[in-house]
Amino acid sequence: MIAGNIRRIREELPEGVSLVAVSKFHDSEAVMEAYGAGQRLFGESRVQELLAKQPLLPDDIGWHFIGHLQTNKVRQIIGKVAMIESIDSERLLSLVDAESEKAGVVTDVLMQVHVALEETKFGFLPEELMEFFRERRFENLRAVHIRGIMGMATNTDSEPRVREDFRRIRSLYDAIIRDVAPDLRRFDTVSMGMSHDWKIAVEEGSTSVRIGTSIFGPRQY
Ligand SMILES: *Cc1c(COP(=O)(O)O)cnc(C)c1O
Repeated sequence: MIAGNIRRIREELPEGVSLVAVSKFHDSEAVMEAYGAGQRLFGESRVQELLAKQPLLPDDIGWHFIGHLQTNKVRQIIGKVAMIESIDSERLLSLVDAESEKAGVVTDVLMQVHVALEETKFGFLPEELMEFFRERRFENLRAVHIRGIMGMATNTDSEPRVREDFRRIRSLYDAIIRDVAPDLRRFDTVSMGMSHDWKIAVEEGSTSVRIGTSIFGPRQY
């Protein structure tokens, strides 16, 4: 079932849009099933769960951390993740940079932008992120590579609302490129779209979707 779900999603994904299979709350056997279908990128949102699962699984998996990352847990995942998609404050960014430098690695990250109407979602406001790039506050980073931005749409059945949110995320990315392009190398990722809204996200310019439920089924919390 998992392999079939992955194949079906892949068939519908345009060339060049990557698929991160969100395996949070699913065990290593489920991950192996997806791996068997050729899936190599997986997303986790809790540090303890990631650290428990990782040793049980092949080491050519690229793990993406996608949840809110508490600063006191940063050190535990540096060097173990291919990307942190959920940088939601400059304090966290600096810490990831410092710990990466200490560990002698470069960590790829995405800046998380908050456009959804819900109060509870983490991330920079679009204006804050634009200011961050305009003021070139990325220049002093030594061991972090900012690869792009990540965002979520409002959790609603209203397709126009969701589409508008994705459009804002994509146009923020385009604006950053336009303003500071020459200085941003490999700033190539717009991560947006989950199980219920990824098709809209792709239409609005996503380059990477994060899909859990439609691959693994519902999560048992
Ligand atoms: C859980 C999660 C997903 C996947 O959600 P599904 O609806 O199960 O596809 C995607 N992105 C983030 C940030 C998540 O926390």
